[in-house]
Amino acid sequence: MKPASSYDIVVVGSGPAGQKAAIQGAKAGKRVALIEQEQGIGGNCVYRGTIPSKTLRESAVQFEHLKRSSEVFEGGLRLDVPLASLLHRLDEVVKAHESYMANQLTRNGVTYRHGRAKLLSPHDVQLEAVDGACQTLKAETIVLATGSRPRSIPDIPIDHEHILDSDSILSMIYLPRSLAVLGGGVIACEYAAMFALLGVEVTIIDKAERPLSFLDKEVVEVFQHSLQRQGGRFYARHTVKEVAWDGVSSVVARLGNGMVVKSEKMLVALGRQPNVEELNLEAAGLSLDEKGWLPVNEYGQTAVPHIYAAGDLLGPPSLASRAMEQGRRAVSHALGLPVGEAVNQIPIGIYTIPEIASIGLDEEQAATRYRGPIVGRARFTEIAKGQITGACDGLLKLIADPSGERLLGVQIVGEDATELIHLGQMALQNGATIDRFIDTIFSFPTFAEAYRVAALDILGQRRKRQGTVQAA
Ligand SMILES: Cc1cc2nc3c(=O)[nH]c(=O)nc-3n(C[C@H](O)[C@H](O)[C@H](O)COP(=O)(O)OP(=O)(O)OC[C@H]3O[C@@H](n4cnc5c(N)ncnc54)[C@H](O)[C@@H]3O)c2cc1C
Repeated sequence: MKPASSYDIVVVGSGPAGQKAAIQGAKAGKRVALIEQEQGIGGNCVYRGTIPSKTLRESAVQFEHLKRSSEVFEGGLRLDVPLASLLHRLDEVVKAHESYMANQLTRNGVTYRHGRAKLLSPHDVQLEAVDGACQTLKAETIVLATGSRPRSIPDIPIDHEHILDSDSILSMIYLPRSLAVLGGGVIACEYAAMFALLGVEVTIIDKAERPLSFLDKEVVEVFQHSLQRQGGRFYARHTVKEVAWDGVSSVVARLGNGMVVKSEKMLVALGRQPNVEELNLEAAGLSLDEKGWLPVNEYGQTAVPHIYAAGDLLGPPSLASRAMEQGRRAVSHALGLPVGEAVNQIPIGIYTIPEIASIGLDEEQAATRYRGPIVGRARFTEIAKGQITGACDGLLKLIADPSGERLLGVQIVGEDATELIHLGQMALQNGATIDRFIDTIFSFPTFAEAYRVAALDILGQRRKRQGTVQAA
């Protein structure tokens, strides 16, 4: 055992949460060590999550654009195309990200330590290097940012060859002919949409009534129609009793009602669980809540005040943007720096095809809190940009209070929804009225113009409610 080293802050995990925590500490002039067990810096976000999945999505979208823009293009994508060629830019993107992050850490004087961390006591972290050598790092403040991994289900034998999870799905060599997706959440729907667009026969199986059941119903319907048009199927209200590889060509799923679904590959996407087992939390006096997540306050402070946690480790929603902000906040709080108000409205961005984005209340939530909220709609078929690009599967909903003046939420499905949502976010955060969208001149043709069209829809309904005649 090497002698102990002392740091002001030790951060465990180099994903978005850990990186931002470490940089924030170093920028404040503190001695910071960042521990990561994997070879590269960046966490799940870079190697198994956001970046790989969005790289495949880019190929699927380009393929769709090609189909959409060419009247003579009739063929589909050959399924024997190696998956690697659809991920051709992945290495480049990962390398660029890695070197950017490594430079940022070095520039700011963060000490990077490669190895596995575990707590020995409230102030001592053991670092086990690849060769098994151990060293103790003493820290005034500890930030746990170890992320999450796919939830394992005892009865589903994931072999990472035929039955895959979101960590292994992109290790397939070729596109399969068919893919069954267990689960109707974000990761399930994102991959289902991408593979369907690439010509794979996709079947989503979920126990819920509809996929993405935490989102606005009407918005999800637009996504579902689009998925169905690509040949995708959604089996609602189905539980899976048994899953097995038949040893020859198919994964066989037996459903609760006796139905059998056969597919060449299966993606199991039934939620995430925190990476805590290796951390030896008890040694520091920490324990998980009844749902299995690490409880923290609004600053990410655990029950032991100098130990903080940030990112996916804290449970859903699992978003890189949220993880980064939590990392920054945790260290700012630990150092007594201004933390800023906790943001209570985080935009949700889902990279299905078409994209979905949401902020604030949806129609159903508004209806439970207000009597008669007004909903303004703009369909992308009515927007010039939608007609020009052919991206007509789209809907933007503005949710207003019963007076039709105050904005309560924005729900979007359609091309660029994850970008468009930020206009609604700024409006909500700054208390902009519905009329503000009407008084604003939007560039033409743009998808953003949908905000004005939806606001005009609210104006029309408002006037009807007030019993006045709407001017043309
Ligand atoms: C398929 C998929 C698609 C996604 N798409 C999006 C998206 O489009 N947009 C978005 O915002 N988010 C997306 N996410 C979520 C996003 O990747 C996560 O929210 C984000 O990576 C969480 O960051 P984190 O820092 O908490 O953890 P992670 O990125 O998981 O990083 C944790 C790090 O801790 C390390 N670690 C764990 N235990 C130890 C230990 N004992 N010692 C040392 N190191 C340890 C791990 O090796 C890992 O590198 C996606 C996730 C998946 C799986």
